[in-house]
This record gives sequence, structure tokens and C-alpha cells, in this order.
Amino acid sequence: MSRSSCWPNFRKALNKFLIPVVAVALCFVHSSVFAQASTAYAEHDIEVSLKPASGEIEIIDKVRVEGRKNYSFRLAPWLGIESVSLDDQQLNVVRQGDKYVVALPDARPHVIGFNLRGKVPARNTQQSTALRSSSGDDGVYLPGYDAWIPQDDAYLIRYRLMVKVPPEQRAVATGELVIELITDEQYLATFEVKHPREPPSLFAGPYQVKERYRHGLRLRTYFHAELADLADVYLDAADGYIQRYQASIGAYPYTEFHIISAPLPVGLGFPGLTYVGRQVIPLPFMRTRSLAHEVLHNWWGNGIRVDYASGNWAEGLTTYMADYALAQDKGAAEARSMRVKWLRDYAALPAQRDQPPRAFKSKQHQASQVIGYNKLAFVFHMLANEIGQPAFADGLRRFWSQHVHAEAAWEDLQAAFEQAAGRDLDWFFRQWLERSGAPRLSLGAHSVEQVAAGYLTRIEIIQSVTGYRFKLPVLLATDDGDQRYEINISDALTRVKFITPAKPRYIHIDPDSDVFRHLQQDETPPILRDVTLNSAAITVIASADAEFVEVARNLAARLMDVEPRFENLSALQYSDQALLLIVSSSNLAQQLGQLRLEQLPELPDVSPSAAAWTARRAIGAPVLVVMAENAAELRALLRPLPHYGGQSYVLFTAGRAVSRGLWPLGRGSLYRDLQSPL
Ligand SMILES: [Zn+2]
Repeated sequence: MSRSSCWPNFRKALNKFLIPVVAVALCFVHSSVFAQASTAYAEHDIEVSLKPASGEIEIIDKVRVEGRKNYSFRLAPWLGIESVSLDDQQLNVVRQGDKYVVALPDARPHVIGFNLRGKVPARNTQQSTALRSSSGDDGVYLPGYDAWIPQDDAYLIRYRLMVKVPPEQRAVATGELVIELITDEQYLATFEVKHPREPPSLFAGPYQVKERYRHGLRLRTYFHAELADLADVYLDAADGYIQRYQASIGAYPYTEFHIISAPLPVGLGFPGLTYVGRQVIPLPFMRTRSLAHEVLHNWWGNGIRVDYASGNWAEGLTTYMADYALAQDKGAAEARSMRVKWLRDYAALPAQRDQPPRAFKSKQHQASQVIGYNKLAFVFHMLANEIGQPAFADGLRRFWSQHVHAEAAWEDLQAAFEQAAGRDLDWFFRQWLERSGAPRLSLGAHSVEQVAAGYLTRIEIIQSVTGYRFKLPVLLATDDGDQRYEINISDALTRVKFITPAKPRYIHIDPDSDVFRHLQQDETPPILRDVTLNSAAITVIASADAEFVEVARNLAARLMDVEPRFENLSALQYSDQALLLIVSSSNLAQQLGQLRLEQLPELPDVSPSAAAWTARRAIGAPVLVVMAENAAELRALLRPLPHYGGQSYVLFTAGRAVSRGLWPLGRGSLYRDLQSPL
């Protein structure tokens, strides 16, 4: 890309106002649509003039291509082509289906010039998504995959992007910030990408920018005015995470990191930046767990891109090294409770919605998160246990140094861990990536007898789903303290024996939940997700108030991971279907009576104006009861309630969750008392 040929009008102004800028390099989000058919990338020289308030946009794009017969591209439907030229000669483009094609005379280098004009669609907070461009007073979002410049999905690109916005606005794009200029008339910034990658994503809005240099990196927040006070907290936190992951993986691959406030309710990781809903930024989990996750995507997913054809390894690895590692920082109990939560979510997933982790590409709904994030994060936990922490850490560093700035597949990750561990791990990756489902464990017969050395305890461990091989921790509690063992399970029936000097009290298999498996029903309390993930579930609304019913239908649509099916309670009585019951307080007793359920299992001592809680009917089918005093109280649940899927109950007062939790549990069937007679 030739820098000197661009935008001569600004040369003088630039010399006067040029703010020296260190480099940034950026790239992309989770789900890529780019096929990368060859290394023959195109070079774009882009000039954007944008009025965020009205959404008006003008784009000049000069695309240099070489070695092709034609240039085929998509273009967002809201953009009009004013003119196209080929090597400075005006030209007409041909539309073929949803694409345009420019025929090229030969394989030599050519420059195709585009003048485009349009209006970025006005944002509708109900309909606008992370995948589509949108504009409004509070900001403009132009994601790279939305073809807001001519986009040939078969090739990566290099680009130089100059953007101009009114002076009260700021604009920022993926790419290295090389020029920034603020005058009374406008704000101008130029971004460059030297290594071929996906098209640029561009963000603009009435932002206040705060900047800081740390450890050679430029860190910035682009926040709406009401968030300005949070900038320092975010810059400190981002710096901390970047240092942490640099130390454990390898150097941060870009020279900058930005946190940009989004008018949309999103949380997206792009190379060198994260785009986060402005309503989410003040929430504590955002600057801790979620920020760590997005920062880590600069290594996993952006620094090394995902070869989607082989499946998406990046979300599971990021969840393991960010979300889970932060839980580990708080102690073993916190880490265990995250593993248990993943297992519980998995137990709530109906078999027909399960899929082999290798099939996971990106998060489409909660069901894919249970596999693509949680199960895969658990797989990395087991891998670390299998090969040991030092080999695991070494494998990650190898993977990083071998594939940074390129695409990588599951096979590449496997190869790096095999090198680090010095052994074959094909069986491990095969069993955890290519199968859906999970091991199921139960205990068979046991015996305890006194022997010369003390006590001999025998017990049978039954694996009813065959073909899994794993290390299984065992806790044997004796009169003289706890003994811990690790046994290798590979058969349907494993007979184990332990000799202990002291008398055994009880045995607990997988006491800390270190193996990914199907929890038995007695190990897992019902949670909201048992119903909301269940595509066979029916929804019953019990209220005579028309407004309540309307709000309830709305709430059901937000809660259920699939389109809700509305029925009467009579449709359910003899089946084992999951049920979502939305009921006004005055109807509660009667409805529960029909279901033969108790009014409310034991709950904390608050008198809620609305509540959601789970139960199981006698046949084991899960029920989610949502009750509210009136339509207004129910409406207040629309936003918060879908966030409590992992809970057994949540109680609300005036739309605020005042209490939540899991029903207490028995010890489950993998616990065996060895003192009582058989
Ligand atoms: Zn992620």
C-alpha cells in the first residue's frame, strides 16, 4: 500500500497537527466467514467520511488486486455504488445473485476504484445485532463482516483506512493507529494493517478518550460521557490482564488495546480492542471476568485465528484460561464450583441438542455455549491433569510461537501438547472432541474387611457409557484422616481395592468434580436451564389478566432457548415433559395443586414480589415456576431473569434480584458410606 499517494489534501494539515502515534494492529471477532482460499490478498486504500448522527457515509475505496481473472465482491445493501473504475477508466459492474463481479483483462496488478454512498441503518435496539451495521446518536458500528467496503470473502486483505467524523465525535478501527488529527472542523484518524487479515471494523461515537502507556503498549478507553469515571479502573484492569497473559503465553501481538463502549448489548473481542455494551461496562463482572476473557481473545481467536473448518478451539481455551483461572485465583472451592456449574448446565442439555465439541463453530444459543465454551474448558482442565501443569503451559507457549498471526486447527493444538508432553494424545482429543455425550459413573458392590495391614476396602466402579479413558480421583475417608488416590478408568467395570491402616468411613468418587461426566439426578439440583434449554418443554400461563398474559408470552420467548410452545396444564398431566409455568400469585396455589407440587420449597426469608424457582415432579420432569403479583412485577423480570439460568431459584423485589441460589443436595450416588452394613 502506498502511503504517499493517499489524501494529499490533508498533507499540510497533518504536518501541523500530526500527533505521533505508536502502532496498533488489530483484527477480528469470534465467528469468521472468511475462507482464505489463497495467499493472494487484496490491498484496500479506504477513505471514509461519516456523520454518526444521521448515519450518512461516503466511502472511497481503491482495491489493488493481482493474479485474478475477476474481482467478485459483496456489498451491504444499504450502500449505493456511485461509480466504479478499473485503472482509472469508468466501468460498469455486473451483479450475479448477491454478488458483483468486475472482469479483469489479465492477471497483472490492477486498481479498482469505488465511490460508495449510503446511510448506515438506524439502530433498533430490539433488532440490531452484533453482525450488522447500525447507527444512532450514541454511536456507529460497522463490523468487518458486514461488507461495508467491497468484500471478497475468499481472500484476506491489507488495508489503510482513513476516517473523518465531526469534531465532537471519535472514530476507531481495527488496525494500527498511525495518524490522529483533531481540528475545529473534524476528527481524523488513520489505521493500517500490514499483515493480511479480515476487513476492518469501524466504531464511532460521542466518545471521551482516555489514554495511558503501560509496558510499551497504548491503552485507551472510548467511553460515553457517563462512563468517564470508570476509564482508569478499566485501563488498570486491562493492563493487568495483558501482563498476565504475556507472561504465561507469549508477547501481546499488538501494540494497543482499546475498550470501546457500544450502544448495543454486546461484548465482542476484536484484535486489539473490545466492544462492550455501555450498560454492561459499569457492572463489576465486566471489568473482571468478561474483560479478562476479551483481552485473552487477542491471543486465542485473533492473534491465532481459528481454522473454523476443524472446529473452534478458541472459546473453550479462553474460558479455561480467563474465566476459570480467575475462579482458581479465589481458591479451590471457587474453581470446583465453576466445574460443577458446567456439569450442571450440561446435565440440563437434552441429548438431541448435544453435539461433538469439534462441531462447535460459534455461539448461536445457550446450548452451543454449554458445549463450545464450558465442556471444552473442562476438557482443557482434564488435559492439564492428564499431562501435568508444566507440560500444559509448555504446550500453550509452543502453540503460540508456532502459529501467531496465522490460522490454526485443533490438530495444531494437539501437536503442540504432544510435543510438550512427549507422548501421543490422539486418544484424548478423539474421545473428548469427536463424541457427543459424556461418561456416566456409578458405584457397584463394596466390601470392607480387616486384614493384617489394617483394612481392605473393595469397590466396583461402573462406567455405563463405554470407550472413555480417564484418571479418576478417589477420596477414602478413614478414622485416621483422608486418603486420596487416582485410578485409571477405561473399562465398563473397574474393581479397585485399597488397604488402609485405619478403619474406612466413606468413599467418594470424583469428590471435586474433576471429570467431565453426566451428573446423576441425585447429584444435581434442578436449575432454570433444565427447562429453558429443553426444546420439548411446554409453557403454561395461568392468569385471567390479559396484560399479564401478554407480558408472560414475552417473558417465555426471552427465557426459552427455542420458540416457546404454549399449552394448557391439561396437556401435561401424564407426560414427563418439562414445564414453564408463569402464574400470578393469586393463581399459584391452585396450579401447584394440579401439579402436586409444594407451594415453595424452603427459601430465604424474604417476601418477594416476583420469583422464579424450579422443582421436579414425581417422574423427575423439571418445572420452572415464574410467579409475580401482577403484570408490572412480571414485566420487571423481562431483562434480569434470563441471566439466572444456572440457579435453582431467584427472588425479586421490584425487579431487583434480592436472593438466588441452588437447592441443597444430598451427597449423590458416587458417595458410599462404608460404616453401615450393606
Ligand atoms: Zn469469547
